Amino acid sequence: MNTSVQTVRIHRTGGPDVLQMDTLELGPPQAGEVQVEHKAIGLNFIEVYWRTGLYPLPLPSSLGTEAAGVITAVGPGVTGFQVGDRVAYASGPVGAYSTRRNMPAQPLVKLPDGIGFDTAAAIMLKGLTAQYLLRRVYPVKAGDTILFHAAAGGVGLLACQWAKALGARVIGTVSTRAKAELALANGCDEVIVTSEDNTVERVKALTSGKGVPVVYDSVGKDTFVTSLDCLKPRGMMVSFGNASGAVDPVPLGWLAQRGSLVLTRPTLASFTADSAELQESADELFDVVMRGVVKVHINQRMPLADVGRAHELLTSRQTTGCTVLLP
Ligand code: NDP
Repeated sequence: MNTSVQTVRIHRTGGPDVLQMDTLELGPPQAGEVQVEHKAIGLNFIEVYWRTGLYPLPLPSSLGTEAAGVITAVGPGVTGFQVGDRVAYASGPVGAYSTRRNMPAQPLVKLPDGIGFDTAAAIMLKGLTAQYLLRRVYPVKAGDTILFHAAAGGVGLLACQWAKALGARVIGTVSTRAKAELALANGCDEVIVTSEDNTVERVKALTSGKGVPVVYDSVGKDTFVTSLDCLKPRGMMVSFGNASGAVDPVPLGWLAQRGSLVLTRPTLASFTADSAELQESADELFDVVMRGVVKVHINQRMPLADVGRAHELLTSRQTTGCTVLLP
């Protein structure tokens, strides 16, 4: 039997005004799929890249990557999930901006009782990203000094708390003093306010001229070279996003000139494609959240129908922490 669902789609790329609420008929889940009724939906920067066309999608297209909800139907061949399960996901086909959807079962993770739907929608994508960045791309060790850009943002607030709990000394960057206060209260030992300070000079001053062994940079175009200049020889540049625009092509010589730097451009999807790895990462994430080691700041909550406003706030740097959309 078909069900009417509300889905935010784009029919063309552009500003937040291209986000349009459409009513569609949803059939039963196909083989390997489950149907999920969403209770909370996460807002993420990747949806801006899709909306603007930086990451192309065939149009018209649904949007959305991260949500939490309840399984309402199970398609043929699905094992391990049943109707009524509380679940969340952070990858798979786009389509999280909807009241209900069908999707492959693989990206789903069952929620422990201690994790509510809002929290799950806030942390699945951003928290799993923090997990793979800090634990697997460059495993942060006690005593490391690390640089994390956009420290008061969604990924940033989660990651800086987690890095601190791993024993690191965390230097964060933010654009305003208000964001600096938030970052200092959530894992950062030092905060560089980019509108006032010279990032390279401050990092050098804070590390006795040595530089840091790792920079986590999701700002992209505006900060890429600065980040390389903050690294010590053989340090690792983790370029994991483009909030300010895509990074220009990088001459390999830049890595040599700065002392055998390592450059990586990782994606969450490649760190969660394997179900066992996904479950292991999610278990670790849920554990640090349920123990209160990492606190979840849902600083913006709004109806799914206001997703255009949510995009405006995110791209104009007015959000902090996580944003959750309510279907
Ligand atoms: P955030 O909440 O961190 O928002 C982005 C932040 O980037 C802003 O708040 C702002 O902080 C900073 N920023 C700097 N320059 C700009 C600019 N020109 N326009 C907008 N923001 C800017 O977003 P998310 O937590 O959703 O994502 C953070 C980043 O991580 C994004 O780049 C995203 O693409 C990336 N990401 C990558 C993943 C991966 O696996 N590769 C997975 C998840 C996220 P401030 O004002 O303090 O500078």
